Amino acid sequence: METMENADVIHADGMPVVLASRLTRRRLPDRIATTDFFHDAALAASREGLRFFFLGASEEQNAAAVARVREMYPDLDIVGRHHGYFGPDESDSVLAEILEAKADVVWVALGKPRQEHWCVEVRDRLPGVGWLKTCGGLYAFLAGDAPRAPRWMQAVGLEWLYRTLDDPKRLIWRYATTNPYAFYRIARHTDWRRPRRARHDEL
Ligand code: UDP
Repeated sequence: METMENADVIHADGMPVVLASRLTRRRLPDRIATTDFFHDAALAASREGLRFFFLGASEEQNAAAVARVREMYPDLDIVGRHHGYFGPDESDSVLAEILEAKADVVWVALGKPRQEHWCVEVRDRLPGVGWLKTCGGLYAFLAGDAPRAPRWMQAVGLEWLYRTLDDPKRLIWRYATTNPYAFYRIARHTDWRRPRRARHDEL
């Protein structure tokens, strides 16, 4: 929670968070799936000349994802990449590489919650980098190792179910351990009072 509160920007990557927000007074208008957002960001960066660095995933998947991005966005300035299986003592050399590359945006796929902790921990040591963006399983999608859910499943908020069926070993355990706690938090901490209607004389 402390790490999330320290983030500069938080968005709802999945539909369940958007649905849960509808129970609260701060309804989110929509989800922003990082896997979709990436392409908007890559187009904008190609246009504006922003430099991307890709950190995370296995060496093989990282290389495949970057090769695919180069194909899709030939005008995009990709200034570096590094796999995500480095130990705490190697973090400094990864930071030096990012600085040396003069990256504007670093995509960070180190798995949850390591990627979130890492970003908050190192951000002050990366002057000149405008944005560290956590991106979880993005490289698996870009490399073609993980299929996207069909459009209709995305539209009705079931992409998480599709991903679970595709990779049950990893995701069933995650959802079984985190969902009950998420439901508890929603039930316990939601402000269940409906927004009060403005009185006529206040209009
Ligand atoms: N990963 C990594 N280093 C680690 C642990 C995970 O680079 O020490 C990578 C992993 O290879 C995969 C990504 O992190 O590419 C998975 O992230 P996460 O599970 O958060 O993805 P999500 O399913 O939430 O999108």
